[in-house]
Amino acid sequence: MKIERIDLRIVKLPMIRSFATSSSQKNSQTHILIKAYADGLVGWGEAASPADPFYCEETYETCWHLLERFLGPAVIGREWSTIAEFKAPYAKVKRNNFAKAGLEMVAWDLLAQAEGKPLHALLGGTRDEILSGVSLGIEADIQRTFDQIDQYVGEGYRRVKLKIGPGKDVALIAQVRERYPDLALMADANSAYRLSDIPVLKELDQFGLTMIEQPLAHDDIIDHARLQVELETPICLDESIITAEDARKALDLGSGRVINIKVSRVGGLSEAIKVHDVCRERGVPVWAGGMHEMGVGRAANVALCTLPGFSFPGDVSGSDKYYVEDIVDPPIRATSGAIAAPTAPGLGWTPNEARIEAATERFAALTAER
Ligand SMILES: [Mg+2]
Repeated sequence: MKIERIDLRIVKLPMIRSFATSSSQKNSQTHILIKAYADGLVGWGEAASPADPFYCEETYETCWHLLERFLGPAVIGREWSTIAEFKAPYAKVKRNNFAKAGLEMVAWDLLAQAEGKPLHALLGGTRDEILSGVSLGIEADIQRTFDQIDQYVGEGYRRVKLKIGPGKDVALIAQVRERYPDLALMADANSAYRLSDIPVLKELDQFGLTMIEQPLAHDDIIDHARLQVELETPICLDESIITAEDARKALDLGSGRVINIKVSRVGGLSEAIKVHDVCRERGVPVWAGGMHEMGVGRAANVALCTLPGFSFPGDVSGSDKYYVEDIVDPPIRATSGAIAAPTAPGLGWTPNEARIEAATERFAALTAER
């Protein structure tokens, strides 16, 4: 297989409702869609970096720079037949994992199409449908949180995750737990606490949360190990786990008991599978987080979640939770808290080029001559 041309697009979609975490707030999503032409096939990828460097150091502008100047030119015109061969020309590029994940997705899509298989089959997936949960942002008042939980539980979602932060934690979780005593509930702090906050975090133990996600610093696994011995609630690591080696070290240290795998954060599906495998060898459950992906990245997330270790409902919900109209056909939908794995070859959902064109804010075509 040889990629002859790559089209990069910055695509902006309005969101149904604004979404706030402990570190950011947004009303729209701007990601990079990558379209590659190879051997008569067309493959798609999505670099799902936020606009601001508050989740990690990347933004869609840094992803554009990496894709246009380094990653795209590295793979155009080169022969490859495996994902490892595809990645080799840019192996020396450090980090920039959202950009790498978007490009690698293109290769997986092409390979799956060439083999006539849906992506999840190529990844080694074993599930026909994935367990789907929802992640709710921090709202200005509790009624808005209740309204959303009512809606999504009514739609059949099987787990609710609430974003928390200092001052929006114990009282919030207490109110939600009182109203929904049996709901599978978890909290995500997005690195908003320090070890000195142990008393507050211990208070959360009384609410039977399935886990608390990334309470401490984004790059920490040491203090999380100190915190985990103090808490009954399992800690789930998100931001701290960039590679499968990070996962191994964190589990050796006891920094958490669950890992949230994000394709973007770890630099692509191949590293995501490695993180999954490290956890599975130790009996540690994983689930998939998301970055509010549009249909292309969301399709890749669905494929990943079919692997056997994804035993908790993750953040991969129907795209109608975020977007009035997504950029793939048919829309990715959850039914009774599950998304069926597609049967079509490749990503399994078809990018709608007219809608993508209409939402495009910047375009560049990369070719060997450029
Ligand atoms: Mg998280």
